[in-house]
Amino acid sequence: MIKHHPKFELIQAYVNGDLPASLSMGISIHAEMCPACQQKIAQLTEQVAESSFEAQTIETESTSIGDTSSDTSFDFESMINNITLSAELDEVAKPVTKTITFKTKTYQLPKVLNRIKLGKTANVGKLSRTRLQLDEDEIHSSLLHINAGGGVPEHTHKGFELTVLLDGSFSDDKGEYVKGDFIMLDTSIKHNPISQDGCLCYTVANDALHFTQGINKLLNPIGNFIY
Ligand SMILES: [Zn+2]
Repeated sequence: MIKHHPKFELIQAYVNGDLPASLSMGISIHAEMCPACQQKIAQLTEQVAESSFEAQTIETESTSIGDTSSDTSFDFESMINNITLSAELDEVAKPVTKTITFKTKTYQLPKVLNRIKLGKTANVGKLSRTRLQLDEDEIHSSLLHINAGGGVPEHTHKGFELTVLLDGSFSDDKGEYVKGDFIMLDTSIKHNPISQDGCLCYTVANDALHFTQGINKLLNPIGNFIY
């Protein structure tokens, strides 16, 4: 069962369209698997739609006072053209199902990732990383696969790190995480996730990982690999 959900403020920013694409997709992916957050998003979206409708109505009323010339400039034909154009676009964008294979296991990707371009897959030991090509400068998004028995050595980072579990499970000293969990960590947290049976995650980070312990410090190039 999913135990970790995005914070309310994050869902609110998502609904308002204030999040970078990578974080926004993380929330969409979680919501695909979490009916509770789906409901929260629907409620908030309705509220935002209502309040923007109210704002629009007020605006229209106030501009129409003493300004009758704007009525005649309304271009009905171009409005119809616009409607037709968007209907065509909908027809072209048929839903596709994308899958990704790591070693011998094939995973179906969340709907929201279907139209995102995937980069090449890089492998180090039991870790594989496929970059999502979102072009967000210092924010990197990836699919991270951990083979059974693999893990990421203890590390910390200067920025944030979001992990959404797409399949399988992993654990760290805080407990076990399962499919659908939305784990947002900030710079203050050190952790050492291990996956006994293997897992696939969607990850977003805005800074390389820094390995913190003894010999793990030698692994800092892997930090750039995962980031
Ligand atoms: Zn949730």
